[in-house]
Amino acid sequence: MEHLYAKRVQKSGNSDLAELFKLSEQPDIISFAGGFPDPRWFLDEIEEIAHQVLTDKKDIALQYGPVPGFTHVREFVAGRMQEQQMKVTMENILITSGSLQGLDLICRVFLDPGDLIVLEAPTYLGAITTFVSYEAEIASIPADEDGLQVDQLEIFLKNTLRKPKFIYVIPTFQNPTGRVMSLERRKKLIELANEYRVPVIDDNAYGELRFSGEEIPSIKALDTENMVIYLGTFSKIFSPGVRLGWIAADPKLIEKLILFKQGSDQTSSSLSQLLAYEAGKRGLIEKQIAVTCAGLKQKRDLTISALQKYFKDRATWNEPEGGYYVWVQLKDQVDTLKRLTPAVINHKVAYVAGSSFYPDRRGENCLRVCYSLAKESDIDEGIRRLAQAFVNA
Ligand code: PMP
Repeated sequence: MEHLYAKRVQKSGNSDLAELFKLSEQPDIISFAGGFPDPRWFLDEIEEIAHQVLTDKKDIALQYGPVPGFTHVREFVAGRMQEQQMKVTMENILITSGSLQGLDLICRVFLDPGDLIVLEAPTYLGAITTFVSYEAEIASIPADEDGLQVDQLEIFLKNTLRKPKFIYVIPTFQNPTGRVMSLERRKKLIELANEYRVPVIDDNAYGELRFSGEEIPSIKALDTENMVIYLGTFSKIFSPGVRLGWIAADPKLIEKLILFKQGSDQTSSSLSQLLAYEAGKRGLIEKQIAVTCAGLKQKRDLTISALQKYFKDRATWNEPEGGYYVWVQLKDQVDTLKRLTPAVINHKVAYVAGSSFYPDRRGENCLRVCYSLAKESDIDEGIRRLAQAFVNA
């Protein structure tokens, strides 16, 4: 049937995401690949919550719900955002099936084939795949230790003949680098968004997972003229299996997004929404965040020590203050994508190659090390295997 496929299929040649999910399922492999939470962080109380929801609220939990999500769930989400200094109410919230669906719906509303969008490079592979599937033209602005280089963005916005539809950023504990955009740059980004009237998508999947250092306000919290579209998710603070996220945006935009949500999956799982709400109401999401952050800190420490032990003089890396990822840049010119299959097969270790996070496949000698899922007792050995995989490369 291939000849019947849409043109966009030819452009979406990148199946890295599917590959990496397959890889991380093999039991003898130490995986630093997929951005999965450690299942030991999931709530012990979930069984009791599920029992209660399915007993007391069975009729609602197993039924279709309203397209934008349950009102009390939207209020709960808005309430949590307000606690993080973001000025939103229930009307600003659309519950989605994961934040990746949120991004997909935003693309449906904003993008015609060939439209220009801006992102920081490197960035989240799932986002690149989504943008490519909508046939967007992607402009990459470089990022450094302090995140997106806003000066470069300014030059781009000044000189571009076509106006971008939006700027996509992951300001806090970025995927794949684990870096945080500085406050100064966040403010400048808002200024530029206001000046050039280009919306910013603030993907804050990891923002609540800080285990050291100072809190920085989200881009959404700094938004002065309603130019920021916020993407939130329960995946890293509760469960990715419930597939629950949200968009926070201007109610007029939410209205349009709802139209496409209806045509996509009509509404997000009622059962999932009630589980997340009940866990939140009991204060258990905050508890899970605390457990997750403590676990992540321990794993970050083990990862950094192992990198110092096995990669000293051979690579540079950052020391993340939260989130799941360390970005490792090898000093030798090694193509980490070509090395991936031998690393998995011969050395039983998995990671994601740096080039997967660049729309133009740069970042050859880089790799993303995700430390959230590997067992504490496997981290040193895993990094040792990684080092071996790059010897004589
Ligand atoms: N944004 C970023 C930056 C991510 O890393 C992820 C998942 N790893 C997502 C969005 C999607 O998350 P979900 O669809 O599970 O909410």
